[in-house]
Amino acid sequence: MALLKAVDPKGLLKKELITEEEIKTKVEELAERITIDYQGKKPLFIGILKGAFVFLSDLVRKIEIPLEIDFMSVSSYGKATQTSGVVKIEKDLDRDIRNRHIILVEDILDTGLTLKYLVDTLSARNPASIEICTLLVKEGKQRVNIEPKYVGFTIPDEFVVGYGLDFAGMYRHLNSIYAIDTDKI
Ligand code: 5GP
Repeated sequence: MALLKAVDPKGLLKKELITEEEIKTKVEELAERITIDYQGKKPLFIGILKGAFVFLSDLVRKIEIPLEIDFMSVSSYGKATQTSGVVKIEKDLDRDIRNRHIILVEDILDTGLTLKYLVDTLSARNPASIEICTLLVKEGKQRVNIEPKYVGFTIPDEFVVGYGLDFAGMYRHLNSIYAIDTDKI
């Protein structure tokens, strides 16, 4: 962790959970699956800001079919490291999604409340299909029935940062995924 002192002056990073190389390989694998599954279609990728911006940008650049990209921004009320389940749409889509094939791109699925809310809200707008592509799933934490079609990694119940994920706005620019030492917060 010494090398990370420059980006982690408070020493909150506990351990590297997923390396840059592992993420790269997984992103290519997911992009290949999506390329095959959506042949002949022009899916609309919806990145959930802010956490998914790094994952989305790497993912779409490996996909070899026509596609479009939009973003939504949501906030959930609650403590810094916990979701309350109450979700507010801060920025909605710029376009109509009726009859579109939607791929919701999220950084992490924890309780599932955020994605459940988004899937329900977007389904009401009559898209042709909606699937979820999430980089991470926290094992055993889901409180609602939600089944992402594309999952990068299943991780233990730790608060993680890096590769788009933040703690208090920090660490999004790290290339690997790290667990934070929550005792130091
Ligand atoms: P959920 O609604 O599934 O409980 O939580 C989803 C959102 O909570 C994620 O999009 C993310 O913003 C935040 N979140 C949940 N777990 C973590 C985590 O371990 N690290 C970070 N940085 N954010 C998390």
